[in-house]
Amino acid sequence: MLTTLKILYHQGKQFIPDPTKAKVPGIFRGRPEISNEEVDIKALADVCPTNAIMTSPVSIDLGRCTFCGECSRLFPNKVKFTTDYKLSVNKRDALIISEGSVNKITVDPDLVRNEIRKLFSGSLKLRQVSAGGDNSTELELNACGNVNFDMGRYGIEFVASPRHADGIVITGPVSKNMAAPLQITYDAIPTPKIIILAGTDAISGGIFADSPAIDRSFIENNHIDLFIPGNPVHPLTFINGIVDLLGITP
Ligand code: SF4
Repeated sequence: MLTTLKILYHQGKQFIPDPTKAKVPGIFRGRPEISNEEVDIKALADVCPTNAIMTSPVSIDLGRCTFCGECSRLFPNKVKFTTDYKLSVNKRDALIISEGSVNKITVDPDLVRNEIRKLFSGSLKLRQVSAGGDNSTELELNACGNVNFDMGRYGIEFVASPRHADGIVITGPVSKNMAAPLQITYDAIPTPKIIILAGTDAISGGIFADSPAIDRSFIENNHIDLFIPGNPVHPLTFINGIVDLLGITP
């Protein structure tokens, strides 16, 4: 008994009291800020492996960014990554961060479909499909339900069957081999249902964007309710994105 108490004392609290206000270590790369400092913009864009940096106007597309940090390492006064992990949006264009912007990234409540908040704000069951994913974001999504992050406190959970789900979470760039299983899984979810893209690969194809081995037709042909950037997605980014989408007030 004494040993157990000692271990508990040594480990401290194992849960995050409020995931919407948690702090992350300084090495975390979250929402970038681009200063107005004059630099060689072409050289800055050239360091990016996924063409996430645009030159006119100068901006970073978080839907393409792998958060590798090279732009910030080579141009530290131009690009800085903050520890702000709230990165999710419900409009693809809102993932483009422009030079000089220090605005927080948020879900636009006016674009959330009425049935989403009405039906799912108390309970949201999700089926995850790894469509050619590399298991990094999938690992982080698993962590969302552990004792630290405890996503279940908001009624948000992953379920085994699409027939028990209210929506689908897609990870990976969608390989050709996964295009049909993805469609079959989506079709098996009862309506109304939501689609969430988790991670750079799912949002844009990431480093596989030009590969002939991917098939993005499902994503191009369906309305996406939530884009959650990250490479991989951090559990706090995922949880806060869905909490914002559902309009949950912690
Ligand atoms: S951190 Fe993002 S924008 Fe910067 S070089 Fe890497 S992928 Fe490109």
